[in-house]
Amino acid sequence: MKLDYDLVIVGRGVTGGVMAALMSQSDLKIGIIEGRDINLDDTDLNKPDPRVFAITRASEHIFRAAGIWDDLAAQSMGHFREMNVWDAHGEGSIHFHSKNLCQPTLGYIIENHRIQNALNNVLKNKKNVELICPEKVNQFIVNSDHAELFLESGKRLKTKLIVAADGANSKIRELANIKNKQHDYQQTAIVCSVKTQLAHEDVARQRFMQTGPLAFLPLAEPNTCSIVWSTTPEQATELIDMEQKAFHQTLEEAFDSTLGSVLQTTQRYSFPLSRAHAKNYVEDRIALIGDAAHRVHPLAGQGANLGILDAATLTEVLLKETGQDIGRRNLLRKYERWRKGENLSIIAAMDAFKYIFGSEKKPVASVRNFGLSTVDSLPFVKNFIMHRAMGLEGDLPKIARSTNAL
Ligand SMILES: Cc1cc2nc3c(=O)[nH]c(=O)nc-3n(C[C@H](O)[C@H](O)[C@H](O)COP(=O)(O)OP(=O)(O)OC[C@H]3O[C@@H](n4cnc5c(N)ncnc54)[C@H](O)[C@@H]3O)c2cc1C
Repeated sequence: MKLDYDLVIVGRGVTGGVMAALMSQSDLKIGIIEGRDINLDDTDLNKPDPRVFAITRASEHIFRAAGIWDDLAAQSMGHFREMNVWDAHGEGSIHFHSKNLCQPTLGYIIENHRIQNALNNVLKNKKNVELICPEKVNQFIVNSDHAELFLESGKRLKTKLIVAADGANSKIRELANIKNKQHDYQQTAIVCSVKTQLAHEDVARQRFMQTGPLAFLPLAEPNTCSIVWSTTPEQATELIDMEQKAFHQTLEEAFDSTLGSVLQTTQRYSFPLSRAHAKNYVEDRIALIGDAAHRVHPLAGQGANLGILDAATLTEVLLKETGQDIGRRNLLRKYERWRKGENLSIIAAMDAFKYIFGSEKKPVASVRNFGLSTVDSLPFVKNFIMHRAMGLEGDLPKIARSTNAL
């Protein structure tokens, strides 16, 4: 059987890109199919990108192993040494500082296009990686020793394994008939960049209101943050349509003037928020990673980080068996068993946060405020929570734990 590729990754977002960069260090032949038209040599880094990720320390380690960290670190990048979270309806608050965890930083704030560009720079020099774009998968069939993909252009490709990194509306998941349990949060997130009167001082801040959390994430410039404002769909529509001056005023009030007045904002974008989880992550010759497998509320900035961990875990499982058939289900099940429990625990934690902070019920509000202040006074508990949020706790693949190479 002549195969076109050992592995075909469908989707070249952050998850698919990291998977390709990690796997390209083996001698396997890798194809990437992407629906967008990506020019590997031409990313305009001067234009701001509304998609900004809070990147955990675990993802930093994986980016290092993927060969993109030095490129990212050479550019402007925000990072947060401290984090402040507080309740708009009470006295409860919690504060984390990297020095209490003996870490140089708690995490990074990086624009999506910088990550995409760094991935392009690595992938374009790999002889065993081919990017096929713009292209889409129409159908595939699974045989005993390979899978065959039928593309929109009429091309056909044979491979041992299809990795679905094609996002929340995954076509591969749908074609494979994998059920996907979804829940609409009835919330919409507004994102944009904001210039404020006061400097952010490398502190990530989040104020919880009953309509949802408002986060200010520090970018590289001292007075500029990226915001994620989760609120009701009705308020989101109002915020999107608002005149600039009124929006500045409303944002400043919602953030309790914590960074003084709002001086400038970029174009606002909105994203409806939902949670989703695929019933299974693998089938014979198919593995789902990233948003194709799960979607979480952005309140703790974990979504892309979970996908990056999926990519690192699947790579670790596959690289142990490169001489074998990497598409067989019992091998892929190792990846599924490893990641499913971890992802489910994060999904449950995000839901609990959302419920506790969204509740107007007085007993819940009192417990919430008491709980925040109590946890704040317990260094051991605080350190555990922060280690978890930095991605440094849990059952991690080797490359996520430290700066190990593959
Ligand atoms: C408001 C908001 C804020 C967020 N903030 C954070 C944060 O701070 N930190 C964090 O970790 N996460 C955050 N997230 C979550 C994060 O955006 C996602 O988890 C992450 O982008 C998922 O990456 P992915 O590569 O799995 O999927 P995607 O980014 O959706 O990429 C999928 C890729 O597949 C391609 N594709 C789709 N269908 C096909 C097809 N049929 N054929 C070929 N190609 C296809 C698409 O063009 C795309 O390039 C946030 C999300 C929201 C909504």
